[in-house]
Amino acid sequence: MTGKLLIPISGCTGVAWPAVPPPVDSYVFSVLRQLEESQWWPAETLLAQQLLQAERLLAHAAATVPFYADRLRFLRGTRAGSLSLEMFRRIPVLRRAQIQEAGSTLLSTKIPPDHGAPFDIRTSGSTGRPISVKGTAITSLMTRAANMRYHLWFKRDFSAKSAAIRMLKGAELDAAKADQPIRWADGFPSGPMVLRQITTPVGEQLDWLLSQDSAYLLTFPSNLESLIRLSQERQVRPASLREVATVGEALDEEVRKACETVWGVPLVDAYSAQEFGYIAVQCPDHRGRHYHVNAEMILVEIVNEEGAPVAPGDVGRLVLTDLHNFATPLIRYEIGDLAELGAPCGCGRGLPMVARVLGRTRNMLVLPSGEKICPRFTFESFLFSLPIKQFQVIQESRQNLVVRLVTERPLKSEEEARVKDSILVKAGHPFDIRIDYVPVIPRAASGKFEEFHSEVAV
Ligand SMILES: [Zn+2]
Repeated sequence: MTGKLLIPISGCTGVAWPAVPPPVDSYVFSVLRQLEESQWWPAETLLAQQLLQAERLLAHAAATVPFYADRLRFLRGTRAGSLSLEMFRRIPVLRRAQIQEAGSTLLSTKIPPDHGAPFDIRTSGSTGRPISVKGTAITSLMTRAANMRYHLWFKRDFSAKSAAIRMLKGAELDAAKADQPIRWADGFPSGPMVLRQITTPVGEQLDWLLSQDSAYLLTFPSNLESLIRLSQERQVRPASLREVATVGEALDEEVRKACETVWGVPLVDAYSAQEFGYIAVQCPDHRGRHYHVNAEMILVEIVNEEGAPVAPGDVGRLVLTDLHNFATPLIRYEIGDLAELGAPCGCGRGLPMVARVLGRTRNMLVLPSGEKICPRFTFESFLFSLPIKQFQVIQESRQNLVVRLVTERPLKSEEEARVKDSILVKAGHPFDIRIDYVPVIPRAASGKFEEFHSEVAV
């Protein structure tokens, strides 16, 4: 808190200190207090607690969620406290298409009354396949507590101004249109958070950001990249900025480097999904690719093609279980992202590690052999020296790639050759590459920018 006192908002007449927070905030602080302890527990203690909680979730799902009746039948009659990770892994993985097909059979017919009234969470997710699930007051409570821990890890100054440029909906979009700030630090006296829609032209965004003079900025990595490039061209920088937080897309380490060198501020990255909130957050004691899983809320598995757990350093599919969603239980849900399992972190926290979250499973590059790789094409350092505003690679066929460019002027032939070479090196295969100049590259329907898109059926 950089020397500032951290006193919650009091909800009691005449009492300012020590604060007596209103009931909902009190619940958040109560969970947060536990999270601050449990983050230091050994990994095996955390796992044992996850399994005890998972057992409660599975019993509820088996009894009240029609979709799970068959799937969880094999666990019937098991002794309380006996659920092992091996048994848990025998539960079939839940795919996004199955959630769509399951419809209301995935809803609990008997949500415990103290979990509150359910509400809808709609998401197109990273695969662009829309699903709708329900959350409860308890899932919101857990999300708020995890967010608070995230803020505290990075010693954010709650009284400072924050700016967010992301996908806005409903009340937030209205607030952005009316230039109305919102609060960003639940439970504490909060500085204002100002908002802009992610689809705002980058030039407008930059002007706005400079005029707002905020201490923090939250946005998508691809958008940050564009902002940094433009500010570099215009030789301006957001003067009061102390930290940038990114979310919503895989972060390229080149973007982190640019943020540090061009803007001179640290970048903090987190991995989240609408159905879960923050899933993993960068370790506060490390720079770069070290993400701690919010293990108190989410049981994260990373599995290979055969469904077996991967070893640290290996990449696999992310399979997530929300331990507290008793409205739409998401048990062993394959979210459609790939991640690399991390080794235990040197900071002493026992929360499991994800080394990095890779691109989306939909957007895999297919080699002529049929092999798929996860491409990372954008934001080579040298692109800074070229007049490129936007950059996207499309795979048209197993042998053809198209590089779509938005540029200030057509590239010279040697510049084009450098772009093509960098693509070939990263692709690891001699594709035929064509460069197309386009006026603008739109975002996907989800609001996320696709650095790579495959049109090849797999
Ligand atoms: Zn750590």
